Amino acid sequence: MTRYPLSSYKGERAEVCVGNISFREDSFVTIAGPCSVESRDQILKTAETVSMLGASILRGGTYKYRKSPYTFSGLKEKGVDYLVEASRKSSLPVVTEVMSVDKIDYLASKVDMLQIGSRNMHNTPLLKKVGKTKKPVILKRGYMATIEETLLAAEHIAKEGNENIVLCERGIRCFDNSLRFTLDLAGAILLKENSKFPVIIDPSHATGRSNLVKPLCLAALAAGLNGIMVEVHPEPRKALSDSEQSLTFDEFADLMDSLSIFSKNKNKITQKFGD
Ligand code: PEP
Ligand code: MN
Repeated sequence: MTRYPLSSYKGERAEVCVGNISFREDSFVTIAGPCSVESRDQILKTAETVSMLGASILRGGTYKYRKSPYTFSGLKEKGVDYLVEASRKSSLPVVTEVMSVDKIDYLASKVDMLQIGSRNMHNTPLLKKVGKTKKPVILKRGYMATIEETLLAAEHIAKEGNENIVLCERGIRCFDNSLRFTLDLAGAILLKENSKFPVIIDPSHATGRSNLVKPLCLAALAAGLNGIMVEVHPEPRKALSDSEQSLTFDEFADLMDSLSIFSKNKNKITQKFGD
């Protein structure tokens, strides 16, 4: 018997709805926004722009994990208020990371979707409590986690009653340190093969380099995955976190253009290669 009965794929895929957006077999959802909400102006401008360019969900970190205790760690409640205002003004649903059990109820009451970060994928109390909320959740693969551990983490959430789970491959650590992490694209495909939940990728955190984001997003679309999460900032060079991996508005526009062109031709291409 499978070790993850609720999360495994048994011929039917789960549909996850976030506001009016739906992650399902034939959809490709774009989640875009800054690494961190830095100011009201920054998040309002980003929300308006990514919405106009076709993003479906707005992201923005409000409580941030940082390597150093001396760097910006998010605007916290004030950031959440700005994010909610940006959501209202742009009509985009919003997702933000929940880092600790004590913030789950508060964040679940404010945003449309929660995110469990890579560093917390093994935090069982957090998984279980998010499982009790029924709130849609992006579960990021731990950067040192196997595929099975990721599916077992999803199972903790599902077992508490919440099956609104989107799995996200965001890069793993391996011997090669040329990039920030290594995007395990085959692993993402395997996740989808083994699980009924939608699977997306986050090429921003996986690579740490903005110029690698577009080709990997196209690869995710070609591979039949269910979407992408990308970091976008009005002025990436001035970003308070993850500046090198954030797309400018122009780069995001170009990405959306390329995805749309690829998407129109996808059926032709996959038929040709006998998908
Ligand atoms: C994020 O998406 O804001 C983030 C911190 O990602 P990860 O947990 O994958 O590092
Ligand atoms: Mn980031």
